[in-house]
Amino acid sequence: PLTTADLIEEHRICVCVRKRPLNKKELSVKDLDVITIPSKDVVMVHEPKQKVDLTRYLENQTFRFDYAFDDSTTNEMVYRFTARPLVETIFERGMATCFAYGQTGSGKTHTMGGDFSGKNQDLTRDVFLMLKKPNYKKLDLQVYATFFEIYSGKVFDLLNRKAKLRVLEDGKQQVQVVGLQEKEVKCTEDVLKLIEVGNSCRTSGQTSANAHSSRSHAVFQIILRRKGKMHGKFSLIDLAGNERGADTSSADRQTRLEGAEINKSLLALKECIRALGRNKPHTPFRASKLTQVLRDSFIGENSRTCMIATISPGMTSCENTLNTLRYANRVK
Ligand code: ADP
Ligand code: MG
Repeated sequence: PLTTADLIEEHRICVCVRKRPLNKKELSVKDLDVITIPSKDVVMVHEPKQKVDLTRYLENQTFRFDYAFDDSTTNEMVYRFTARPLVETIFERGMATCFAYGQTGSGKTHTMGGDFSGKNQDLTRDVFLMLKKPNYKKLDLQVYATFFEIYSGKVFDLLNRKAKLRVLEDGKQQVQVVGLQEKEVKCTEDVLKLIEVGNSCRTSGQTSANAHSSRSHAVFQIILRRKGKMHGKFSLIDLAGNERGADTSSADRQTRLEGAEINKSLLALKECIRALGRNKPHTPFRASKLTQVLRDSFIGENSRTCMIATISPGMTSCENTLNTLRYANRVK
């Protein structure tokens, strides 16, 4: 198992995979677990193939990432290897971003602490702890939070009754979400309250919370300001489900459009992270609303990103799982 000795010190982009356990439903239909994690950074998919003579054989595919978390890994442990190493970045005037990517039901929201709230929002706790360190205390930083979602290419403020917001780019290529509420927070409880407000706002009027969240990107941010000026920003992003293949052939126009929009934004995201990793001056951030609003997180000397690709272990999810692993593989 992973220990803190395995912690990778410095990387701009960290890509890891988290496998969840088989759930009740999968167990009840005797779905097979086709994922093994033989070491701390390797994922193997044992894709069952049927031969002509109907004897089964397994075709193994191996992927390597910065970390591979097996189904016994706790949220606390995942946090320690993914978001935790990025906390210092925002105190050093940088941008930190952590994405959960994967098929609906694979564990994105769970990994983000369950709608970002968790039992005790590890990230916020650590931000407030860091704030008390002498080095940073003397900077007199203020902490703010924002919470919004991107649905069908539109931005909605979850801290302001789901107000629809415009995204503007000024002459200096600075992107602004006009009117986005930034609430000052003084302690972890303040943050938990905001998250609660945002989450109830997010799903109100929806037929099913999961159906909605599978089609929208949720963004929660912690912003540090010094004398009003942005000092650093941490973004946690629970991405829309990536299983959009079926949508594109759907008869329902709205569903098709939404699916196309999600595909577009996830492709743009991949390109933007790759550009960040290669220190390319031009990031193709305009290709989607998601990458546009995250633009300042993809540029700059001191931007760091972590992607957690979540996967279901079941054979029935194999195709989606392979798509997720291939995508994550390409990000770096
Ligand atoms: P997603 O947000 O990707 O659609 P969820 O996070 O909602 O998926 O997870 C689907 C279900 O599986 C939830 O009931 C969640 O609690 C459970 N789950 C996800 N990941 C894990 C895990 N690593 N360990 C235990 N249960 C998990
Ligand atoms: Mg979810």
